[in-house]
Amino acid sequence: MDHFQYRNGKLFAEDVSLEQIAAEVGTPVYVYSTATFQRHYRVFAKAFEGLDTLICYAMKANSNQAVLTTLALEGAGADVVSVGELKRALAAGIPAQKIVLSGVGKTRQEIVASLKAGIKQFNIESEAELELINIIAGEMGLIAPISVRVNPDVDAKTHEKISTGKSENKFGIPWHRTGDIYARIGALPHVTAVGVDLHIGSQLTDLEPFKIAFSKVVTLVKALHADGHDIRHIDLGGGLGIPYVAGAEAPPSPGSYGKMVANVLGDLDCSIIVEPGRLIAGNAGVLVSEVIYEKTNDSKHFYIIDAAMNDLVRPAMYDAHHEIIPVEENTAEASVTVDFVGPICESSDVFAKNRKTTALAAGDLIALKSAGAYSASMSSTYNSRPLIAEVMVNGDQYAVVRKRQTIEELIALDTVPNWLSR
Ligand SMILES: *Cc1c(COP(=O)(O)O)cnc(C)c1O
Repeated sequence: MDHFQYRNGKLFAEDVSLEQIAAEVGTPVYVYSTATFQRHYRVFAKAFEGLDTLICYAMKANSNQAVLTTLALEGAGADVVSVGELKRALAAGIPAQKIVLSGVGKTRQEIVASLKAGIKQFNIESEAELELINIIAGEMGLIAPISVRVNPDVDAKTHEKISTGKSENKFGIPWHRTGDIYARIGALPHVTAVGVDLHIGSQLTDLEPFKIAFSKVVTLVKALHADGHDIRHIDLGGGLGIPYVAGAEAPPSPGSYGKMVANVLGDLDCSIIVEPGRLIAGNAGVLVSEVIYEKTNDSKHFYIIDAAMNDLVRPAMYDAHHEIIPVEENTAEASVTVDFVGPICESSDVFAKNRKTTALAAGDLIALKSAGAYSASMSSTYNSRPLIAEVMVNGDQYAVVRKRQTIEELIALDTVPNWLSR
């Protein structure tokens, strides 16, 4: 459930009208709902009640400082994938002991910063990385806590660009190598094995692939315990899907996910780490945009809007579906079939193809729903379009939590070398 609802014919985020935000902040603009972030976090946390669990929010989904601070106050930890994310998490007040570092290409700088901060664990993805962490920790006189990201070779049955748990993917350590890796950790002086980690993909709409993968991990952990490794945490990754399409069958609830986890892992004497991203953030944000033009080609009818693929790349990148609804409620039947497109010179700058909608006109505001995760955080300035504003609503108040970049700021990022000065 989210807090974007119509009131007296106008779409609101909690108690603030999106029309008001658009008038005051301009469009396109991302609008987030504090209450929705809190609700998603609390529902997820409740699903793990009774289990020793740390929720490390996968902040690549949405790393705005206001979002992170909202979640930090709920008690969230963070799953970070770069030194930039590490610094953002620390700046938002997330304690280092609740931060795990993931990623297939951790640099020396990232390893040093994470050791200095004293993070909970490194989720390693290769033997080369393990050797480097051991060397750096040695130089710093520390022992690095290591969890090995294993690749359980299961098909998550999700979009190929967000599937990560098959042996052909670049992620994790191949299943048959895990025994050797833990033996190697045992032999190195500046690393210690504390956990096992996996993350099989994103936007999973079925519990079965999770269940298969988690069961494999249970077998592995029992074997590691028998070999004398002190494995204390199992990091299950993220990946639980969210509803994007109105009226379609909903993905499994956090409650049923938590129950399955308790069934599969309940009798292992290990704490659990989970890394939800999309589930927390996805439906906590919308992208508000204005229809600029209506255009008809021979066979096609287009609504050209002021947002583009640089602001929200998910449809172009993953064929993702976003519900599009008018900010001014229209209770009439959907009467036109249109493509919602952005202004960028790319054929993939399309938000929705052949979408049935109520008729709109230039100047009308629309909201693209489910735009809280992998949306602002993936935006770029392609076509010299400045990064757009982000707004957080809390009850009847709202704040601009990232101001719209100006064109001058964008240009000022470049420098012209001396030899070109006139
Ligand atoms: C992206 C990612 C997540 C979060 O995935 P969601 O589908 O957003 O829950 C968790 N863990 C790792 C390692 C990731 O790369």
